[in-house]
Amino acid sequence: MAYDYDDQNIFAKILRAEIPCDKVHETPHSLAFRDISPKAPHHVLVIPKGQYVCFDHFAADASDAEIADFTRAVGQVCALLGVEPGHGGDGYRLISNAGTNGVQEVAHLHVHILAGRNIGRMVQ
Ligand code: 5GP
Repeated sequence: MAYDYDDQNIFAKILRAEIPCDKVHETPHSLAFRDISPKAPHHVLVIPKGQYVCFDHFAADASDAEIADFTRAVGQVCALLGVEPGHGGDGYRLISNAGTNGVQEVAHLHVHILAGRNIGRMVQ
């Protein structure tokens, strides 16, 4: 699938340091920062530094190194937040919205990490 990447999206501007962010974590291929409009006590966005619109784009075109780095970055942020259920934390939810039906607002791949309260069931 071919995607047109708009490098004027807000996360592209954050990556270029044109606008600030509340950085939580950074790795060679990924950046994590707090959502400007948090929906939970912890609401962190993790993005790849590469220009990918959504998850299927990333899975198709990113290198194995980028995919491994991004996956680990998500886990590392959960550890930094202290929410890992296997280590005494209360858990978290990952969400990645894509396209119109996913109600994606920013066209740069991001995973939401939501934690710090019971997020409730989405799928019954
Ligand atoms: P989406 O609906 O695309 O999955 O989520 C985009 C998220 O980006 C929203 O939760 C929104 O609050 C967040 N967001 C939008 N603009 C900014 C910004 O300038 N800085 C930060 N840190 N988050 C933003």
